[in-house]
Amino acid sequence: MSKAFVAAAAIALAGAGASCARAGRTAADVVITHANVWTGDPAKPAARAVAIIGDRIVAVGGADEIERWRGEGTREIDAGGRRVVPGFNDAHVHFVDGGAQLDYLDLKDAATQEEFVRRIGERAKATPPGEWMLGGNWDDQNWTPARLPTKELIDSLTPSTPVFLGRYDGHAALANSLALKLAGITARTPDPVGGAIVRDAQGNPTGVLKDAAMNAVTRVIPPLTPERRLKATKRALDYAASLGVTSVQDMNPPYEDIAVFADLADRGELTARIYAAPMETGWQDQAKLGVHRAFGSPWLRIGAVKGYADGSLGSTTAFFFEPYTDAPNTRGLLADEMQPLDQMRARLIGADKAGLQLCIHAIGDAAISAVLDLFTDVVKANGERDRRLRIEHAQHIAPKDFDRFAALKIVASVQPYQAIDDGRWAGRRIGPERVKTTYAFRTLLDKGVRLALGTDWTVAPLNPMLTLYAATTRATLDGKNPNGWVPEQKITIQDAMTAYTSGSAYAEFQEQAKGTIARGKLADLVILSDDVFSIPPAAIKDVKVVTTMVGGKVVYQR
Ligand SMILES: [Zn+2]
Repeated sequence: MSKAFVAAAAIALAGAGASCARAGRTAADVVITHANVWTGDPAKPAARAVAIIGDRIVAVGGADEIERWRGEGTREIDAGGRRVVPGFNDAHVHFVDGGAQLDYLDLKDAATQEEFVRRIGERAKATPPGEWMLGGNWDDQNWTPARLPTKELIDSLTPSTPVFLGRYDGHAALANSLALKLAGITARTPDPVGGAIVRDAQGNPTGVLKDAAMNAVTRVIPPLTPERRLKATKRALDYAASLGVTSVQDMNPPYEDIAVFADLADRGELTARIYAAPMETGWQDQAKLGVHRAFGSPWLRIGAVKGYADGSLGSTTAFFFEPYTDAPNTRGLLADEMQPLDQMRARLIGADKAGLQLCIHAIGDAAISAVLDLFTDVVKANGERDRRLRIEHAQHIAPKDFDRFAALKIVASVQPYQAIDDGRWAGRRIGPERVKTTYAFRTLLDKGVRLALGTDWTVAPLNPMLTLYAATTRATLDGKNPNGWVPEQKITIQDAMTAYTSGSAYAEFQEQAKGTIARGKLADLVILSDDVFSIPPAAIKDVKVVTTMVGGKVVYQR
């Protein structure tokens, strides 16, 4: 008899009433005892213990209730009074990139441009000639004065190493002269649609490429070898397990990544559940197979597509109705996918008609508005149904659009860490008025919009504690807003935890299977070092994961 069948039978028994369940019941494989459980289940929010058979939770309740599930072979995990919560579901990651980047050059904490240059030089010495130097994660806003780097800073240090280092937001990157040469970018290369080649006063490329302009370089970077792709995936899985992340929603994976996930799933080696949303422009690939939203197994699902409406705030490519306050010559860029708009509309309607879920990146108020228009057209074309359209990031929403957001039942897939990161300089960039409805998590919840939480790893750290900290404190990374930047948009730890667990599960059509600690749900849960519900929000960032369990198996133990 399969474990899944036993669990299902046990759940049915337990449902029939305690007296019936007492006699001759199947013993639990695992009981978690002495736990301070936040179940996330409004019907039964707190518990002391959990019983698990196979990959499912069969009982949640008081110590006595769970004791009755103990049998000879039952393994006990004593939580030692610690806080137990449902596993975190990161609704927006770039998973294999993230795993690969754990080995890449990481310049996020390079405090000066000199430090940035020094580290690139150091890495070049350790890189075989001809091998690409990738990664980056740099942030010019950390430097005084904040200014974009140039290829001249690094060319002499990297004569035989093509360098392509992304800004941390992924919407700009620095290439050295060798990389530009390999990509064929010269002073005569025009800016592509949806992108910009940053140039000096003479019109020569400085090495910084924005959005679609980066494609010329990414096209010539050799793809990951199968071995490196597998290694990166395993790195990412281990890292996620260590942080209590038990589900991820992977945005824009190349199909080769999904093949790796499928192999690992077959071998029983996935330690996080994955919902993969490849590029929207390739929607017909999935449609041809007849695959619908959330198709697959509890370990791996496909059936969503992810598109882009604009760029990012940091790169001044997020698309606004009005010009940037600190760059009045631009209001950002509509992504190349959105041009022409008729084709984008036709693709989205086609993908939706095929039963695929639509997830669209939109950051600036005009981009969000444009996506709301497109989603309205999708509903009009294909009729009402439960489709859970998603706007990824949803950072700067025009006040007039909140009600539309709610009426269309859009899921806001948001990354609170961005607020404490961008919050350092977003006010200068877009001015005091637009900032009021920026990262507007409280307003979204008040309007009845469903939130899904995530990180956009590697744009922000994968660690859920930093996201919870950001959502509840809005204390910017520079320490200048200890009581919160736009503090009226703070949300409570209950709100944040709900969004990070059942909210993210809802965003992938899986709220029946996971996201709460409840009878019948997948046994994905985390034991925390400290109680995030009772410590001051400012201390949440230091909380550690003690144990991570996925499908009834411990995948990380501190
Ligand atoms: Zn992303």
